[in-house]
Amino acid sequence: MSKVVPLANIREKYFITSILPTPWCPGCGNGSLGNALLQAIDRLGLDHQKIVLISGIGCNGYLTRYLKFDDLHVLHGRTPAVATGLKMARPDLKIIAVQGDGDSAAIGGNHLIHAARRNIAITTIVSNNYTYGRTGGQFGPTTPKGAFSTTSPYGLADPPFDLCNLMVAAGASFVARGTAYNVMQLIDFFAQGLAHPGFAFIEVITQCPTSYGRKNPEQGSSGPAMLKWQKENSISIKEAATMPQEALEGKIVTGVFVNRKRPELSAEYEKVRQRARKGDGA
Ligand code: SF4
Repeated sequence: MSKVVPLANIREKYFITSILPTPWCPGCGNGSLGNALLQAIDRLGLDHQKIVLISGIGCNGYLTRYLKFDDLHVLHGRTPAVATGLKMARPDLKIIAVQGDGDSAAIGGNHLIHAARRNIAITTIVSNNYTYGRTGGQFGPTTPKGAFSTTSPYGLADPPFDLCNLMVAAGASFVARGTAYNVMQLIDFFAQGLAHPGFAFIEVITQCPTSYGRKNPEQGSSGPAMLKWQKENSISIKEAATMPQEALEGKIVTGVFVNRKRPELSAEYEKVRQRARKGDGA
């Protein structure tokens, strides 16, 4: 099993400790996501001077502000657009985009699918807690059908997006889903995504006890209870392939959905630049 760095060392090495604590509620899943990301960066030995974190609006977006990396905290939903611009200008940088489910799939859904289509080498991490936690627990595009929220007090009629299947269909070349419960698996997925030479998308099912759990207690209304729910309701993608669709209702399918080679945008664009320099056009 790969080595895990003690949390105290992660804290000292990567966090701006003078501005801690983070504003996250006790039991929030974003802490586990942040730990797994930093463990993966550490495992790969990435050059810290070459990493830029770009975060969107939402509770998880706070992560980047507390870390000792260059970061940009951008307009709601525009994370993939800013990340794309930066990668095109500086292909040598490792760009990590951190988004929530509302930021990535609602406000910024269009940007996300086009970044996947272009296969630009950005590692996108989406914290999916099934709700707009920061703004008061409204439903969003990944909220399960029937769930209760401040804007669906009698149960939600909408079906949700499956973000991983959406990303596979849009053209992302690495797609995986894990949970805040299974941090070891998450570190592996993040490490694979960070090493991947194209658009890598990792969805993390995280718990929001404050805005989602309280209204949907069957998933647990505290951080530990929600982690237990994640553990008991996760199914590997291999196992899911043998099950009928109805049996997967309400389950979290985890694993690597796709890992494929496709031409990467910034490298393809460099070829266009070279042709333009030579005047080799139509
Ligand atoms: S509202 Fe939810 S997502 Fe936001 S910090 Fe609290 S527990 Fe985490």
